Amino acid sequence: MLVRLDSRFADFRPAPNLLEGRVILVTGAGDGIGRAIARTCAAHAAIVVLLGRTVEKLERVYDTIRSEGGPEPAIYPMDLSGAMPPDYEALAARVEGELGRLDGLVHNAALLGDLGPIEHYSPEGWQELVQVNVNAPFLLTRALLPLLRRTASGHGRASIVFTSSGVGRRGRAYWGGYSVSKFAIEGLTQVLADELDSVRVNSLNPGPVRTRMRAKAFPAEDPETLITPEEAARAWLWLLDTSDVHGQALDAQVP
Ligand code: NDP
Repeated sequence: MLVRLDSRFADFRPAPNLLEGRVILVTGAGDGIGRAIARTCAAHAAIVVLLGRTVEKLERVYDTIRSEGGPEPAIYPMDLSGAMPPDYEALAARVEGELGRLDGLVHNAALLGDLGPIEHYSPEGWQELVQVNVNAPFLLTRALLPLLRRTASGHGRASIVFTSSGVGRRGRAYWGGYSVSKFAIEGLTQVLADELDSVRVNSLNPGPVRTRMRAKAFPAEDPETLITPEEAARAWLWLLDTSDVHGQALDAQVP
């Protein structure tokens, strides 16, 4: 299945201690691609901050990481649909106070929302989707940027990775607020990357991956035909480590 991955990621042979001493925060770390990114980072020696809304799922990821021999992760329960600016400031203070640094910020959590014509899109659904998919990454980035900036070290610049989608680069009928929100994420990536030299900022489109969200969008599809979240997570690992990629919109899989 790895053949579907871009060769940069498929051929990547990371050392087991690749991210040793580094702290990586992953949103939506309890399930799907976020869970796999968290496990992969921990398997390469990173201390991972597991942020998500379902505590039991985060606890299961914590247990998995420990049973796989990774460094002790931190669990940070947070529902991005209701979090307010002070909640993000409190999170930044906790990360700085308890871990002292932040080398990577992975914006992964997202809602799919309704699929259907814009004309029939529910205004409440639109607002919740924009809150989780756009406002939360903005607020989280804003709160954590001072720490990310200060973290430049022997490992190089800190890295922010925004998770995009094919429908965030070309609009497609019936993908509604999800598509629009991913366009906004591409815009946020470009503006931030143009503003920042001291922190790397990129967007990554995973392509079709075997998760709950994909199954909801394509219920008739055979999931066995898709790459697994663990395979996709190699692209994030590469991007968190690679020192000179900045301001790019990347695709994890070849078309
Ligand atoms: P999943 O639905 O499997 O996982 C999404 C994660 O986000 C879950 O852990 C979920 O938490 C979390 N989340 C959702 N809402 C909130 C919230 N309000 N607060 C905190 N956490 C929340 O999706 P995928 O793993 O498939 O998607 C991951 C990323 O990849 C998304 O950005 C998606 O848009 C993108 N993507 C995925 C593709 C695919 O084929 N799978 C293709 C293109 C892009 P909980 O488990 O508690 O609900």
